[in-house]
Amino acid sequence: MTKAEKFTAIVLAAGSGKRMNSKVHKQYLTVAGKPVLYYALRAFEQSEVSEIVLVTGAGEEAYCRKEIIEKYGLKKVAAVVPGGRERYHSVYEGLCAARGADYVLIHDGARPMVDEDIIRRSMEAVKRYGACAAGMPVKDTIKLSDEDGFAEQTPERSKLWQIQTPQSFSYPLILGAYQKMLLNEDDAITDDAMVVERITEQKVKLIEGSYRNIKITTPDDLVVAETYLQSASL
Ligand code: C5P
Repeated sequence: MTKAEKFTAIVLAAGSGKRMNSKVHKQYLTVAGKPVLYYALRAFEQSEVSEIVLVTGAGEEAYCRKEIIEKYGLKKVAAVVPGGRERYHSVYEGLCAARGADYVLIHDGARPMVDEDIIRRSMEAVKRYGACAAGMPVKDTIKLSDEDGFAEQTPERSKLWQIQTPQSFSYPLILGAYQKMLLNEDDAITDDAMVVERITEQKVKLIEGSYRNIKITTPDDLVVAETYLQSASL
């Protein structure tokens, strides 16, 4: 009998979320009666992944255990580890805590609308392609600006995607790519697929996420998430 492949979700909840202008970190703000972070953890808890690694701000581990993991009876959270200064430092800490995984799904804890279908599509695609990122075709025209704020180029819209999480990878691939990237830290890194694109030959398959799978970044996003979460629970 072959051993079942192990999928681990790494949920990121470190960082201060400066654009939220709030004393409480955005991942702990309440939407539809529960903390933002709870919703992503619940989605992975109810999915086919075997384990969840939660990456929090340093010193926030006990709070997360008590106020989220224990309070809502989440059973799959196998480790709670402190993150780092940049998102990519936090991802690396999560990867170190996910040893033994065959595949990892890296997800922003600030995206509460991730759901069963997106997680299932991610798991299927990463098994098939080795690397995939959820996203959606852009609806607006996107322009590249020059340094003075004038339009310089208009990339062909039909080829443009707005990228979300989860982003999913074979474990050895993403660990190796991060280890190499961290030797020469690159502050331009904004997502995990970028690390793989820059450092390896592996192609990252873009898969369907959802237009609802927003990242809570500014106060407006909380209002939108509240509406979505309330309609989901009707
Ligand atoms: O900074 P941004 O809003 O793009 O963050 C995306 C996700 O990365 C959030 O879920 C945040 O908690 C996480 N993050 C992290 N460590 C950092 C910065 C951000 O885990 N140093």
